[in-house]
Amino acid sequence: MIVKENEALAPLTTLGVGGRARWFAEAVTEADVVEAAGWARTRGVSLFVLGGGSNVLISDAGFDGMTLQIKTRGVGTEDACGVRFYRVAAGEDWDDFVSRAVAENCAGIECLAGIPGTVGGTPVQNVGAYGQEVASVVERVRAFDLERREFVELPAEDCGFSYRRSRFNSDDRARFVVTRVDYRLHRGGSPTIAYPDVQRALCERERAAGKPGLADVADAVRRIRRLKGMLKVEGDPDCRSAGSFFKNPVITAERCGEIAARGAPPPSFAAGPGLVKVPAAWLIEQAGFAKGYSLGAAGISSRHTLALVNRGGGSAAEILSLAGEISARVEERFGIRLEMEPVKIGF
Ligand code: NAP
Repeated sequence: MIVKENEALAPLTTLGVGGRARWFAEAVTEADVVEAAGWARTRGVSLFVLGGGSNVLISDAGFDGMTLQIKTRGVGTEDACGVRFYRVAAGEDWDDFVSRAVAENCAGIECLAGIPGTVGGTPVQNVGAYGQEVASVVERVRAFDLERREFVELPAEDCGFSYRRSRFNSDDRARFVVTRVDYRLHRGGSPTIAYPDVQRALCERERAAGKPGLADVADAVRRIRRLKGMLKVEGDPDCRSAGSFFKNPVITAERCGEIAARGAPPPSFAAGPGLVKVPAAWLIEQAGFAKGYSLGAAGISSRHTLALVNRGGGSAAEILSLAGEISARVEERFGIRLEMEPVKIGF
């Protein structure tokens, strides 16, 4: 394992802002992960694990510790009565894996097409979209436990999954380095077509051809994401973002009723007894921000209010001041405090 010094981190992230890593290494094997963890421990520096860099905001000062980029590769499969188990190395590109599963006619992740990042990041925030989330297909997660200094294989029920949450980004944040994720997909299963966006996007041709298949749904999701600037496309300025910058808040149905009584009723979706989920994008727009709004080199995507973009040469400070302005206005208008979704590193 080669340890580099003062490596630029911005080019390794989709947002493209932030400073340098004091030390930097790539893990292409599990042994590299163990070595990097030992290296950081003996020097008393902290370890930051980087995957595809699609959900992080690196500070302008950079990260004064060891950044370890997970680059392990490999996909293994095993079949058992109607199910295909995939053992996928954490460094594999997530969307490539979705394409492979869809091509192999395995259902369960077709709505998660087009999400940037690596496989290792998916259980961390329990990635979900358009009616699917990885928690329902994760069989187990293999990870290096930095506390006990050994590899562990955690069955899904020990991962603490809930909405966009797991033990890896909550109670046990920074304890595990995910090296492999095992998924359980359904061979020949039907696609999930739950969201109106997906139903609309399945074009006439696909509908005329009969029941849409897994590939039709994955393609439809990619088209939706592309229209929203949420698909990584070379040269598209709207995709220089960290995806959704704020979580969609869950509020009480009563609070939602109060907001509706004061003006336009917010779109809302059931989120447990007495609770509803409200799109953060709607709150931001109602608070007076339009797509394309700019503050210095930071801006709101011209295609999706929830994505903050770096218009070029931007800094983390600029992104954060725009985020601060947005949250302050949403809170003032609705009394709802928006929570940031990307992970802040080096602040
Ligand atoms: P969107 O489709 O405009 O939806 C905004 C919010 O409304 C989401 O919280 C979504 O719930 C909810 N919603 C919309 N239609 C719904 C329906 N028919 N039933 C139940 N809930 C519904 O959001 P977007 O920002 O463009 O994102 C598209 C999808 O990608 C969403 O599913 C979003 O959650 C997902 N996404 C996930 C991550 C992540 O995993 N970290 C990051 C960015 C976006 P859900 O959140 O339950 O879908």
